[in-house]
Amino acid sequence: VPHEIHTSERRSFRGCRRRWNWIFRENWYPFLTAKPLEFGVAFHEAMEVYYNPETWSWDREVIQDLAILCFEQKCQLQKQKYLVQKEDSVLDTEVEEDYAERVALGIGMLNHYFTFSPTLDKNFKPVKTEISFRVPIKNPVTGETLICKCKTCLEENPEGQIVYYAGRIDCLVEDLDGWYWIVDWKTATQLSQTQEFLDLDDQVGSYPWALRELGLRIRGFLYVELRKGFPKPPKENVNRRLGCLFSVAKNQETDYATFLKTVSEQDKEAYEEGLYDAMLTFLQNDGIKYHQRFEVHKSDYQLDQIGYNLFLEAKEMLQEDLPIYPSPGRFACNFCAFRQPCLGVNSGEDYIYTLETLFERRKHYYVRDEASTESKGGE
Ligand code: SF4
Repeated sequence: VPHEIHTSERRSFRGCRRRWNWIFRENWYPFLTAKPLEFGVAFHEAMEVYYNPETWSWDREVIQDLAILCFEQKCQLQKQKYLVQKEDSVLDTEVEEDYAERVALGIGMLNHYFTFSPTLDKNFKPVKTEISFRVPIKNPVTGETLICKCKTCLEENPEGQIVYYAGRIDCLVEDLDGWYWIVDWKTATQLSQTQEFLDLDDQVGSYPWALRELGLRIRGFLYVELRKGFPKPPKENVNRRLGCLFSVAKNQETDYATFLKTVSEQDKEAYEEGLYDAMLTFLQNDGIKYHQRFEVHKSDYQLDQIGYNLFLEAKEMLQEDLPIYPSPGRFACNFCAFRQPCLGVNSGEDYIYTLETLFERRKHYYVRDEASTESKGGE
């Protein structure tokens, strides 16, 4: 068992040491039940099929169909796993409806993505998808590799274990000049307003650092956000309103191209009279954004700093007498799976009993080899 540090552990460590200690040092995980659909995991698998470098030159329509098929199959497998765990044969009506809605959402999102991705990708070709990497963490001044001598690591190796920074990359692509880019796909209910948060983001910084350490010519990070939604044709009015057969309500899940196609083909006269002009202008300028792609570049100096800070943070984590204390926060505690044992410690109760009854000891997710988007137990 290697000693690996991942971005999720770094965030956990900085978020609340008490929770970090329970998860990453003591391996406590809340009992997790399978969900009928892990949307992100299924969506990522479909994207991996689409960006498979071995089939990149194939007929794209065939690959698009394959990607959608892969998404559907993954959803089906997740549902089966869920039913087996629940010892049931069918989903409850409400759960089934939600499941079917989300499968349709994924298919709609993929189909929509395929309409514009060739333009986005024209200067890139995929090199590999879902790549695990690990890099030894070194003292940037002395070049010495960080070694962990905690009880677990000494059991593995009496000399201690090398500490690695590790992670998984959604996709690596190469541009026309032979530089590599790291691609990360995120599905989100709302897209980010600005790129600023990415300039400080630890994953966006540390992945290029890690690949540079491995000797790759890395140009930067492509952060792709996809809205959980896809454009649909506008609603048809029951009766013509202000001369329009189709609704011009601004809150519809549609975009310029879909709206234009529908009204110009199915309500030609009104369209030619200009009755849809205001709505079309709105959609063109302020309509829903379904995707955005940010390019983040890091200079060598910035990457050096990222490596240095990572070393300091990892070194601190390994400290034998590291003080462990809670870092309560209204937002963090609300979503923390360890709320109950945490309150137990604060009140002098038998929190070990709580941990033993509500949690299980599991291997870390990287040893379990789960997909990067799988939920990891509220760390
Ligand atoms: S409930 Fe809050 S303080 Fe307690 S472990 Fe969780 S995040 Fe930390």
